[in-house]
Amino acid sequence: MEELQNWLEDLLNLQETDSRLDRMKTLVADAPKQKKDAQDNLDAQQAAALAAKEEVRKVELEIKGFAAVIDSIDKRRLKLLEQSSSVKDNSTYRALLHEADSLQEQISDKETEELEVMEILDAKKAEFLGCKGKLEEAIGRVEQMMTDLDVRVKNCQAQMSTLEEKRSKEASLIDDEILSRYERIRVKKSTAIVELNEDKCGNCHLKLTTQEVKLAKNRVAHTSCGNCGVLIYR
Ligand SMILES: [Zn+2]
Repeated sequence: MEELQNWLEDLLNLQETDSRLDRMKTLVADAPKQKKDAQDNLDAQQAAALAAKEEVRKVELEIKGFAAVIDSIDKRRLKLLEQSSSVKDNSTYRALLHEADSLQEQISDKETEELEVMEILDAKKAEFLGCKGKLEEAIGRVEQMMTDLDVRVKNCQAQMSTLEEKRSKEASLIDDEILSRYERIRVKKSTAIVELNEDKCGNCHLKLTTQEVKLAKNRVAHTSCGNCGVLIYR
């Protein structure tokens, strides 16, 4: 009986070590992709911040354009007023004043338009600041994440060599036939041996036959679930 118990304990120890190794291998293997995803996300945020900055620049240029147009209209208006002061003829004088007034109206219209664009500028600036804030936060977060990930990968790699040694020792204790069966199952499933839950398989959760449950209870090596094929015990 003791011998029967040993195969089980040894196999469970091996499976525990293999599971830990699997988790570490996954972490190490996934690290480059995790880093790439984080970098891609950062690049996208950087591009968004640059695009928002460009939007601000465009609106600022538009406002400069307004200022130049208003300035040139005003120069024309002042020139008319200057001309009007030296005109003797009344109707010419009134015509010049009328033209100057209409230029003043044009200036007012342009100023109204300019105010509207200034409001747009405020909104664009707020948008840019939002993007910039998010980007700065993300840069800090990603840097920390990369550092943490590097440390975790290093720790895992160090632990993995210790675990590999532990695994060889544990595997050497197990009967060749059971070991090769265990390894064949583990290629397809992360769990090769499970405890029964009442009369159900702990892996596929389906009900087992009375015979299977009896063998599992007696801890007979090689007893497996007729549904999913994993080794079972109880
Ligand atoms: Zn099963």
